[in-house]
Amino acid sequence: MSETITIALSKGRIFKETLPLLKAAGIEPLDDPETSRKLILDTNRDEVKLVIIRATDVPTYVQFGAADIGVAGKDVLMEHGGEGLYEPVDLNIARCKLMVAGRKGERQDVARLRIATKYVNSTRRYYAQQGKQVEVIKLYGSMELAPIVGLADYIVDVVDTGNTLKANGLEPLEHIADISSRLIVNKASMKMKHARIQQLIDKMQAAVK
Ligand code: AMP
Repeated sequence: MSETITIALSKGRIFKETLPLLKAAGIEPLDDPETSRKLILDTNRDEVKLVIIRATDVPTYVQFGAADIGVAGKDVLMEHGGEGLYEPVDLNIARCKLMVAGRKGERQDVARLRIATKYVNSTRRYYAQQGKQVEVIKLYGSMELAPIVGLADYIVDVVDTGNTLKANGLEPLEHIADISSRLIVNKASMKMKHARIQQLIDKMQAAVK
């Protein structure tokens, strides 16, 4: 029997948009994670399994070799740091922008800005590069609320259409990075299972629009 390849994916947009790329590589899941409660999904290929986990956990599973391969947003990878991972393919899916946003028409002019975000590492790095002192407040969701209730001056979040910002009286102010999902590979797996993984990379790369 050939060696198992485990692929880590998160539910929702990444799963949906990765499906056609996996299909191009000859891999089709036998279950739908939106309706199944299974965390490990079988595929049409006996030796390929999918693990369904939180988006922010995908780089960790791949880093430690619990999955050989994964699909993760660049926002999540920037926050994780990318240790132990190769990032061979920009899948060009789940595109958005990491941005600073604040209340519409208002600019804060304080010595030490307070920034609410779930992206604490990327936020610290961004302001450090500009030589600005900021206080970063870690949140886990609904960042848009923070400037409205006075918890923070600005937020750092991913923005797609900008509709969520607009609906909450906020506007995008500064562009930090363009975001899309990337194929990531465990460094040891890349050596040990090279032929199989390289073939998967090549097929997914060819299917990227
Ligand atoms: P928007 O289209 O700007 O209103 O985006 C709606 C919300 O969805 C934002 O607040 C983001 O948190 C989230 N979002 C949009 N695009 C992405 C993406 N590619 N990856 C993760 N979250 C996203």
